[in-house]
Amino acid sequence: MVAMSLQDAFVYRLRYYRRPDVKKFLAWVVDGNSPIRPGEGGAAGIDLGTLEELSSLGLFHRHVIDTQPLCPRCDSQDFYDRYLCPFCGSPRLDRGRLIEHYPCGFIGPEEEFERGGGACPKCGMNLGVAGADHGRMRGSFKCLDCGRGFAAPLISHTCAACGSKFTHEDANLRHICEYRFNEALRGEVVLACSLGDLISDCLGSKGYRIEDTNSLRGSSGAEHAFDVVATRGGGRLVISIASSPSEVGEMEVAGFFAKVFDVRPERAVLVAMPRLSEGALRLAKFYGIAVAEGRDAGEVVASIAKLLD
Ligand SMILES: [Zn+2]
Ligand SMILES: [Zn+2]
Ligand SMILES: [Zn+2]
Repeated sequence: MVAMSLQDAFVYRLRYYRRPDVKKFLAWVVDGNSPIRPGEGGAAGIDLGTLEELSSLGLFHRHVIDTQPLCPRCDSQDFYDRYLCPFCGSPRLDRGRLIEHYPCGFIGPEEEFERGGGACPKCGMNLGVAGADHGRMRGSFKCLDCGRGFAAPLISHTCAACGSKFTHEDANLRHICEYRFNEALRGEVVLACSLGDLISDCLGSKGYRIEDTNSLRGSSGAEHAFDVVATRGGGRLVISIASSPSEVGEMEVAGFFAKVFDVRPERAVLVAMPRLSEGALRLAKFYGIAVAEGRDAGEVVASIAKLLD
């Protein structure tokens, strides 16, 4: 996704908050289910693609927790390992007994030292006390073909899917990530995920019935979307929610007025979070639009309740 400004990201996030699946998922996340580990997103009803999109909008931080090697030809993660002699490539190996001679640094099979009557094959010095001037190397190998000894084999992977043979040098790497919720956005998310439900409860207590649709056709023939549409005794109420990190501006007020003018409900309320700007407030008064302001869901619902009394 292209780089976007903070304000753009905020507007995009608002769109996601309206999606029922995202709303449900985020409610689950802020309920203490962060970080989201691989596979858990699916259990919570969200796919990896959406999780990536939410991350690019700042809701989650990706954190690499593991690296998975993949077949360089087919990207399969299903392969088995073989140990090979690093000198001749033979797979015919055995456990070897290697001795390291500390003074000269030579490492060789025990038999080579025995053949020389206990002298180092490289420098000719006689071996002294084990642990002092020489030591056995644990877990070493011996090649049954070329007879050389070595501390670590060459590890070769064979892909079970396509048969490709490769080593760590050629393997593709895939990052396994967990997604950590950006706690700086907790307030915004809690608000976005619970506000709709709280408003519905409030309207219900005032005798309103929430309609299933959020979109109404105006007398112009155009469809207009609202956040809440409710009816009481044949009269219709529409509510739109506008929010901004600081103040809601005149554009939101004018846009809401145009929709309301076309749909002509009995009542219309514009929710402005946290508040309208001075100019927007003047415009709302001029248009006769009822406004419910609030910094959080509780304040907004309280001011809606006051308007409807
Ligand atoms: Zn030596
Ligand atoms: Zn070999
Ligand atoms: Zn493969």
